[in-house]
Amino acid sequence: MLTDNHGRKINYLRLAVTDRCNLRCFYCMPEDGLNWLSRSDLLTYEEMLYICSLLVKMGIEKIRITGGEPFVRKDIMQLLASLSALRGLNELTLTTNGVLTAPFVPELKRIGVNSVNLSLDTLDANRFFAIAKRDEFAKVMETFEQLLKYDIEVKINAVVMDGKNTQDIIPLVGLTKDMPVSVRFIEEMPFNGDGHTYTGLEWNYKRILDEIRQKYPDITKLTDSPYSTSHNYQIPNHKGSIGVIAAYSRTFCGTCNRIRITPEGELKTCLYDAGVLNIRNLIRNGATDADLQNALLKAFSHRHKNGWEAEQSRSGNTSAHESMATIGG
Ligand code: SAM
Ligand code: SF4
Repeated sequence: MLTDNHGRKINYLRLAVTDRCNLRCFYCMPEDGLNWLSRSDLLTYEEMLYICSLLVKMGIEKIRITGGEPFVRKDIMQLLASLSALRGLNELTLTTNGVLTAPFVPELKRIGVNSVNLSLDTLDANRFFAIAKRDEFAKVMETFEQLLKYDIEVKINAVVMDGKNTQDIIPLVGLTKDMPVSVRFIEEMPFNGDGHTYTGLEWNYKRILDEIRQKYPDITKLTDSPYSTSHNYQIPNHKGSIGVIAAYSRTFCGTCNRIRITPEGELKTCLYDAGVLNIRNLIRNGATDADLQNALLKAFSHRHKNGWEAEQSRSGNTSAHESMATIGG
């Protein structure tokens, strides 16, 4: 079993395969995009597969593919199919904005992807455009329908933004009435890629929950699974469930079991750190399996206690504001 210096189990990797995206969600990146990484900066699929197989041997049991938007990277299904065949990997999953995903759903099911996180901040096409700056709402809904049709578990990620989509909280909760989906509301984090800062978080997890309670006073608490980042609830007689993720308030650090690898191969042992090890450079400089394994173990044994400590450790004490697309949400 892989553990860190605080005794927390590490068994979950989030791998961001690209920083590029076909949407411009305002909380994630500026409208004119990012200073995209060049192809040679990105980990190749071969390098990703090598790193993942080593990490699975070390104790990683679950891998989530994310980005940027995973489906804008060419031949992503090839990587997913290879990962799904890794012995020792219990779960392969992904997070997508759903714009290009619908045609791949049957293949995802076939290779054993049984759960997908679909980002959907609103059920209104105009508000979707205002948030994501692209007119792609219909395609996202098509992906949603396909996932349900192919019996793939759907978790909807909705970032709650003051003045942008708080009127969507109740309609999104409404989806859980007849559909077996988990709708998860996420506190907005500072990872917007353009440095705009907030004077304070207007909609923290408590306020989101209060809003839902006003409409559904009989909402009940579910037992959260051991490493869950979401506080989970259900409305009696609803098929689906509701989650609230305190991503800014950072209530879940005590049981954090996840590590991240960015598109350029930087290992992050906390969402809020600035990167602790460049795995790509090690590999390209000829590191052996043992060298890489030792470097990883060293990084895991110096993990920050929580996201506040990790953010403070950034050089120059700069607060975190890079795009979530370069981190892998
Ligand atoms: N493009 C894919 C998508 O949107 O699902 C995958 C990558 S995206 C960076 C992963 C998740 O991070 C999405 O659910 C998105 O809503 C969330 N996210 C991005 N920026 C965020 C921010 N500033 N605060 C909270 N969540 C954010
Ligand atoms: Fe793209 Fe996802 Fe970021 Fe939106 S949240 S801009 S879909 S990477």
